[in-house]
Amino acid sequence: MRRKLIAILLAIALTPVAAAQAAPPTWSPPANLVTPLNQVWQHQEQTYNNGNLYGFRNYGWDQIMANRGYINYCVRWDSSATVTAAQRDQIHATLARQHKKWMDQLVGHNAWPYGDVPVRVVGWAVRNRSQLQWTDTSVDIYVNDIRENAPQCSAPCGRFFHQNGQYPNCPGGYARHYDQSLWLTDGFGGGAGGDWGQRMGREYFMNNINANDMTILLHEIGHTWGLDDFYDWTPSGVSNFIMRAGSSASITEFDAWMFRDWWRHLKSRYGY
Ligand SMILES: [Zn+2]
Repeated sequence: MRRKLIAILLAIALTPVAAAQAAPPTWSPPANLVTPLNQVWQHQEQTYNNGNLYGFRNYGWDQIMANRGYINYCVRWDSSATVTAAQRDQIHATLARQHKKWMDQLVGHNAWPYGDVPVRVVGWAVRNRSQLQWTDTSVDIYVNDIRENAPQCSAPCGRFFHQNGQYPNCPGGYARHYDQSLWLTDGFGGGAGGDWGQRMGREYFMNNINANDMTILLHEIGHTWGLDDFYDWTPSGVSNFIMRAGSSASITEFDAWMFRDWWRHLKSRYGY
């Protein structure tokens, strides 16, 4: 009895240490990453011509700050497959788990204000209601609202369409607006990502739903936060990282510092 109690207390005491994985508190990249990080930022400024890079107002950063600490999603089920309630919840859990892998790189770092950034799936878009095999009302369901040849959640609820963060014509109001879409398409190869969300093959997502690292999703989420591709150049001394497609299955230390560099450059926009 007593030993058991001690074991439980120990577990409680150790949990924060084990779970923390806190990022460094200040901008302090390892010496070998300083040059490539500078190269990346310069390359981004040149490629996006400064004004557009700094003027754009719908990065994942803007979305989180508008919400004060969470991200709302719509699932665009661009598929003829059916979905059970269990699969729906699994898709949400996987999305949240992968999203957290990026967010954890900021916890405790450089005045980042959030310890946890929940992912809420507020809507599902589908061609035919009968594909969704649940009757509860935990998510809003949008049927056959077709854009880009795929089902979408209601545009009046979408951040992409309302970058001022106002949703006067969204039936569920602000709570049911969505910042990003997880767009799963039958037979889609590779992926795409941006301020609007992430897209990949429905088969890829479902086949990797229990993977520790869902590589394509992680890469595409990187784009939502502003991170660039590296198809035509490689920063000095770093060749394997998730934003260089095909070179890493998971987020590396270099990816983490590129991510933190975005926060470093944008945080004054939010008063930090
Ligand atoms: Zn990419």
